[in-house]
Amino acid sequence: MKLADRTTRIASSPTMKVTATVDRLRRSGVEVIDFGAGEPDFSTPEPVKHAGHAALDANFTRYTPVPGIADLRRAICDRYKADYGVEYTEAETIVTAGGKQALYNTALTLFGSGDEVITHAPYWPTLTEQVKLADATPVLVRTHAEDGFTVRAQALIDAVTPRTKGIIINSPGNPTGALMTESELRHVGEFAARHDIWIVVDLCYDKLIYDAVPHNLPKVLAETCRDQTVLCGSASKAYAMTGWRCGWQLGPAAVIAASSAIQSHSTSNVTSITQKAAVEAIAGSQAAVQTMLDEYRRRRDLLHGWLTADARLRCARPAGAFYMFVDVSDVLSVDGVRTSLDFADALLEEARVAVTPGEAFDAPGFIRISYATSTDNLREGSRRLLEFVAKHAPQAATA
Ligand code: PMP
Repeated sequence: MKLADRTTRIASSPTMKVTATVDRLRRSGVEVIDFGAGEPDFSTPEPVKHAGHAALDANFTRYTPVPGIADLRRAICDRYKADYGVEYTEAETIVTAGGKQALYNTALTLFGSGDEVITHAPYWPTLTEQVKLADATPVLVRTHAEDGFTVRAQALIDAVTPRTKGIIINSPGNPTGALMTESELRHVGEFAARHDIWIVVDLCYDKLIYDAVPHNLPKVLAETCRDQTVLCGSASKAYAMTGWRCGWQLGPAAVIAASSAIQSHSTSNVTSITQKAAVEAIAGSQAAVQTMLDEYRRRRDLLHGWLTADARLRCARPAGAFYMFVDVSDVLSVDGVRTSLDFADALLEEARVAVTPGEAFDAPGFIRISYATSTDNLREGSRRLLEFVAKHAPQAATA
């Protein structure tokens, strides 16, 4: 069988392996605590569901314009204006099937053969795979646990070559939860303006930031390099709408028009019913967002306390998103558990706890624990994890 070349360039993600094993175990009747899931465990807020029902009842079930209904594009622009003080018009906005399609449209619109696109590692694998699907080459800049996985402007700038076409930034980041600071981004924006480089920002977790730290990345880019900026957002995490598939791109009208042309020949408009529900989510009360954030914060603090009972499990309290990125390298190298991939496999087989190994994010030695799950699950899962570690890597007796 002869498949297209591009299929050989794309790696399938180890996260899929975790999901498949959890599935297999559950189907055979085994109870598994799933810390792998990258999605909210909350239900979509009631008013949003009602808007979806109402759209269906009103037979709002036909094609819409490819870039989305005007109400939704307006709602997205208004939200960015309210939250970030930046001005975007409907012609500078397109509604996409999740943040994933926003990023994919962007990659296909901006990048091509011979281009290099810089991003920071550890990274969410889709970001680099999409660059490859666009026939461009991802270039990785490492961030470090000792530095809170902060993305440093100078590190990005040092990776620029004459072939650099763009820089992709994900903040808050998956899997680390780290934030890029406004001042670091300002340097990058100023550099990008001088060197004609695209800046793409994945803001899919922007509503999940725990402390009142300045994080107005859209404003910084509007002030430094607006014409070279594409912002990608999503309703998935903020409004617990992963299954509805709604995201968006904001950028210069020419970029949005080109993305719309690409989308018109692939998926066309986002589901009509979803669009009506998303108007309610984005333009309606934001109270549910705050409630969910408060709950994630509570879980984050509990989980952090439980895990760090074993000082060898090194992890910081993430600033955003809902993942704890734990350095397990101090408890490896025993009992055949040599890598974080082995660790995740053995933890699942023996203790029935699913985590995502750092290898999935190009960060061996770590595991990612999603705390988008109940407190009971977190308590029991942490207990099993600590027991697993104690069994495989007993603490050296202290004098
Ligand atoms: N960006 C990041 C960093 C993510 O983790 C995800 C979801 N896992 C997305 C974008 C896209 O999510 P969606 O397509 O559901 O909006």
